[in-house]
This record gives sequence, structure tokens and C-alpha cells, in this order.
Amino acid sequence: MMYDVKGCLHRVLNSLPEGVRLVAVSKFHPEEYVMAAYDEGQRIFGESHEQELSRKAAALPADIEWHFIGHLQTNKVKYIAPYINMVEAVDSIRLLREIEKQAARHDRCIDVLLELHIAEETTKYGLTLDECRQLLADGEWRTMAHVRLCGLMMMASNVDDEQQIASEFETAARFFDEVKAQYFADAPYFRERSWGMSDDYPLAVQHGSTMVRVGTAIFGPRVYSN
Ligand SMILES: *Cc1c(COP(=O)(O)O)cnc(C)c1O
Repeated sequence: MMYDVKGCLHRVLNSLPEGVRLVAVSKFHPEEYVMAAYDEGQRIFGESHEQELSRKAAALPADIEWHFIGHLQTNKVKYIAPYINMVEAVDSIRLLREIEKQAARHDRCIDVLLELHIAEETTKYGLTLDECRQLLADGEWRTMAHVRLCGLMMMASNVDDEQQIASEFETAARFFDEVKAQYFADAPYFRERSWGMSDDYPLAVQHGSTMVRVGTAIFGPRVYSN
């Protein structure tokens, strides 16, 4: 019997305040699970592997908004550029340039978020706050007509200490305010704060999240064997 996607989806949705959107993270879950959520009205789905995403995007309804939430290699951008709605984890000017180039080829504008590295894990991707300041100060992004910077994304440390997680979200929220004031005060689309996953999204919402990325709490545990 299929996992209770419908019940779990509504439990998550009901716990989100007005104005916070849900990215249903469907990586490693079958198309049937995506469709179960889709049939309940969910339209934004997150994936983190190009081939899996491209396969699902081709097979599933065209009005799904796909977000690429994982680390994206520059040589993979061309495959998702025709249809991707948002690249959430841009962590270098090189990647941003490639998205600009591929989006231009398809005469599209692709929404992106800059990924911050705030968590203490050394393995996580993302820009330090200073690297992010530098990327924005350099200003090359202003010349890019086919990408639109819509906000920031981050992952908190994978720890049990709620205080630490809350303080990382708070750091990201303050940094968002800094960048918003300095570069995007007149850009209403620069508004997304993508933080919060299954284990910490209620806390993320308390600390300014506008977009939570939730997988396990909706679709159950991922099976990595396939
Ligand atoms: C897998 C993933 C998620 C969802 O994680 P869950 O713990 O299953 O909710 C969120 N964000 C990113 C970047 C991910 O890779």
C-alpha cells in the first residue's frame, strides 16, 4: 500500500502560516508520489539530481514548477534550462554565468537563489556571507538579463541543538535584510528565504522562512537503492 502522501502533505500545509510556500522534495520518490501530492493541489516540487528530474519533468504534468535544490554542476545546466523554474542553490558566479547563458539560448528568464553556507559542517556547499557580499558587490549579476535573483537559500547544521539551528536561521534572516536593503530594496521579487526541512521547518518559519523544502515529512523515508 502506498505511503499516506495525502495525509502527510496536508499536515505540513496546515502547519504553515500564510505566505510561506512549500517545496515538496520528491527526490528518490516515484512519480506516483508526486502525482498523489499534485492531485491535492501541490505544484512546487524539488529535486536534486538532473537525470531524475529530467525524467520526471518529461513524464509529469507541465504545470508543475520544478525547483533544483541540490548542488548543480555547471555542465548539467543545459539539460534543465528549457524547463526549470528555480535554481535554489547557486553558489558561484561561474554557475550563475552558465545559467544566464543557457537561459538566453532558450529565451527564458530563470529564477535563482544564492545559497549561503552558515552551517558548521565543512562538507556543505554554499557561499560564506563574505563571499556572497563580494559576488553582489562585483555587480556582474546586474548584466544578466536571463536570471533573476529572488532571494537566499540555506541549510542549517544537522544537529539536535535547537538553539544552534535557530541562530543559524537568524543569521540568514539578518543577512537577507542586509542584502535586500543594499541591493534589492526596489525589487519586490527579491523576497525568498528558503530554509527549513522536515526536521526543522517549524523553527525556520519562526525565523523568517518564506519557502520550506520538505521531503521526508510528506513522502516518507527515501529509499536509495534504485
Ligand atoms: C533532500 C533535501 C531536502 C529535504 O529534506 P527532508 O529532510 O527529507 O525534508 C531539503 N533541501 C535540500 C537541499 C535537500 O537536498
